[in-house]
Parts: sequence; structure tokens; C-alpha cells
Amino acid sequence: MTTLQNGHSKKPLDVAIVGGGLVGSLEALYLAKRGHRVRLYEYREDIRKTPQARGRSINLALSIRGRRALKDVGLEAHMIEQHGIPMVGRMIHRLDGSTYDIPYDARTNQCIYSVGRNYLNSLLLKESENYHNVERSFNHKLIEANLKKGSLTFLNTATKEEVNINADLIIGADGAFSAVRKAMMKQPLFDYSQKYIEHGYLELCIPADESGGFQMPASYLHIWPRGTFMMIALPNQDCSWTVTLFMPFENFKELDTEEKLIDFFEKYFPDSIPLIGRKRLIEDFFSGSPSPLVAVKCRPYNVDDKALIIGDAAHAVVPFYGQGMNAGFEDCTLLDQLFQKYNDNLADILTEFSSSRWRDTYAISDLAMYNYIEMRDLVTRPSYRLRKAFDDL
Ligand code: FAD
Repeated sequence: MTTLQNGHSKKPLDVAIVGGGLVGSLEALYLAKRGHRVRLYEYREDIRKTPQARGRSINLALSIRGRRALKDVGLEAHMIEQHGIPMVGRMIHRLDGSTYDIPYDARTNQCIYSVGRNYLNSLLLKESENYHNVERSFNHKLIEANLKKGSLTFLNTATKEEVNINADLIIGADGAFSAVRKAMMKQPLFDYSQKYIEHGYLELCIPADESGGFQMPASYLHIWPRGTFMMIALPNQDCSWTVTLFMPFENFKELDTEEKLIDFFEKYFPDSIPLIGRKRLIEDFFSGSPSPLVAVKCRPYNVDDKALIIGDAAHAVVPFYGQGMNAGFEDCTLLDQLFQKYNDNLADILTEFSSSRWRDTYAISDLAMYNYIEMRDLVTRPSYRLRKAFDDL
């Protein structure tokens, strides 16, 4: 018997979390704080020991939903004050290189923060080491699941051994291509849809200037909207910028020589060439390939009182609303509230989460799809700027 956070003496639950990404490692902290035993299984190596992999957004916009969750686990102040770079609005780059800004919130000065994905994930994992009731297993890939029985089989990719475990509760936080969700799809009445958009994304980099400072005003999310495609840039701690080009795959394919690439950038993003550097632009562009973007909607998120999916596993969204991670973090906050409300009774918690959460995640998914059109196109229209000016009065 252990005294749980709610003050009741109760046997702690044995929870297995699949996926030690942003959402899984945050959920581990929430559950550990409540006194439950948490085993966290992650397919990759411990990211704290590996260099940043290219191609998966290096930085992310952290907003109020995500901040709330970080506050609950005691990490908000650290992330915001020591690591986050405030972005107070969008800085729009016109074709001629001139810029103008659109504040996010001219009335109360709220802003979003650019944070490093690896830094945040590492911080959450490191924090979990402060809890004796969290075990972390890296290089563990989920290969089979019997969710009704609460049993999982992992392949230890380092030793090639299979590892079988049982848990009171399985939480799938294993991302957009979730293996836990795949197992859930065998359940009757499980709704599922996925949509790949025709655009892919490729990451480039604007380095720090010669004196180690930012080459563009840092407190903005920079956007080069070009109608059917766009480029954005978010600031990094080392004064570089992660630049992301979103464009239809067929347009990426057309840029198959250095000459075509430079012509394209001279035509559409001329002011970015001296910032990125011609040589680096060519190197970075041709050393990567565009990644696809998928949105997933599904429900219910649970199987009985045994299994639940959260984060991208439950609701992957396209990134244009900057809410994927934030919504996943909010899942953890809401779950924690349900653990309190139902005194750790899994049947009630999972049923309510499933029946109430999907409406908001479906809405965020739709808003994210809409915001792509806004970011790449509508934001440049005079009517948009006029409306925004009135909104801000
Ligand atoms: P993931 O981050 O995908 O983590 C899942 C983890 O599960 C991974 O570590 C993976 O290795 C592991 N895993 C997978 N399969 C298995 C398996 N079989 N067994 C064990 N482990 C497994 N969101 C924002 O809020 N703001 C932004 O600004 C933003 N920008 C983005 C920009 C881009 C270009 C993209 C693509 C996404 C962006 N997002 C943003 C969305 C954000 O990246 C995701 O919502 C977030 O990473 C979801 O976290 P997660 O932990 O649910 O999934």
C-alpha cells in the first residue's frame, strides 16, 4: 500500500507507457506524481545520448495548453525563463524582402514560445529520474499488444530479445503511426480516418551571424507566405533559425538541380538567400528529402479500463496551428484531473476521457487544416490585415 497523491491509501497502479516522446514522458511525470508505478518504453535510444536527428521539427511553438501542463509538473518556469524564446507575433516577409508584423495579442501581450524539441524531451526524461517509481527502457519497440488482457511484447532492439510484460493500464503515446492504436483498430466500433496532405516539409537553417547573434528580429515567427506554399522560421537558443519549407511534393520534385533551386529561391524567397547562405542552402536542401504530413482522427481512445491512447497516437494534426504537442500535453492535464475526480478508478477515467476529449481534438485538427490556408495565403490579403486591426482595437 502507498499513500497516493490524493491522500488515500491504495495499491498504486502499474502503468506501462509506450513511447517516451514529448507526451509519453510528460504523462510519466503526472502518474509518478500521483504515486503510481510507471514503466516507460521507448523505441529509440535515449535521446539525451544521441545527436539531434535532422528532419523532425527541431523547435516547436509552446502555447498556453502546453505551459499549463509543464507548470503542473514543475517545469514551466525553467522552460519559459531559461529556454523559451518569446514570439509576440508573425513577421511577414513580402516578395521584395520588406517585412511587417502581425501581433498575436496586441491587447494583453500574450505570446507563444519557441522551444527545442530535444531539449524539452530530455528535460522531461531527466525529471522522471527524480521519481523512484518511474523506470525507463530505451531501444524497446512494441511489436504486439493484447489490450484487453493488458499484455505487451517489445523487441529489445539492442539485444534482439523479446520482452513480455503485463500492466494494469497501457498508455499508447507512440505517435502518429502508433502501434497501440493499430491494436485498438481490431476492436469493434473503432472509428478511424487519416489524411495525408499534398504538401511535404523540409527543414533548412539560418545560422547565427558572425558575432553569434540573430540575423532577424528574434521575437517573431517569420513567415514567407506565397499562396500555394510557404516558408516559416522559428528562433533557436543558439541564435540560429530553423526554417521549414512547406510545399506540394510535386514542386519539391521539380527542384532537382542546384540551378533550379537557386532560381526558385531568387524568385520566391530572395531575402532568405543571404541569411541561409547560398552554399548551405544547396547542401541542406539536397541532403534531406521532404517529409509527409498526416492528420489522424479516431475514437474511442480507450479499450475498457485497460488501454488508452493520447497525443499524436490519438490525434495527429498538421502542424499549422502549432497545437500538436500542446494538445497532447493538454491530454495529460485532463487525464490528471480525471484521476483526481474519480479517485484513480480507471473505468470511469478512461470512459470520460474518451467520450469528452474527441470533440476538441477533432476541432483542433480542422483548425490546423484551415490555418494552413491562412498562413500561406490569407495572411497577405488586405482584408485580413484590416480585420486583424479591428480585432486588436
Ligand atoms: P511523438 O513525438 O511522435 O513521440 C512518439 C514516441 O513514440 C517517439 O519517441 C517514438 O520513437 C516512440 N514510438 C513509436 N513507435 C513505437 C513503438 N512501436 N514502440 C515504442 N515506442 C515507439 N506541435 C506544437 O504543439 N507546436 C509546434 O510548433 C509544432 N510544430 C511542428 C512542426 C512539424 C514540422 C511537425 C511535423 C510537428 C509539429 N508539432 C508541433 C506537432 C508535434 O511534433 C507533435 O504533436 C508531438 O511530437 C506529439 O508528441 P507525441 O509524444 O504524441 O508523439
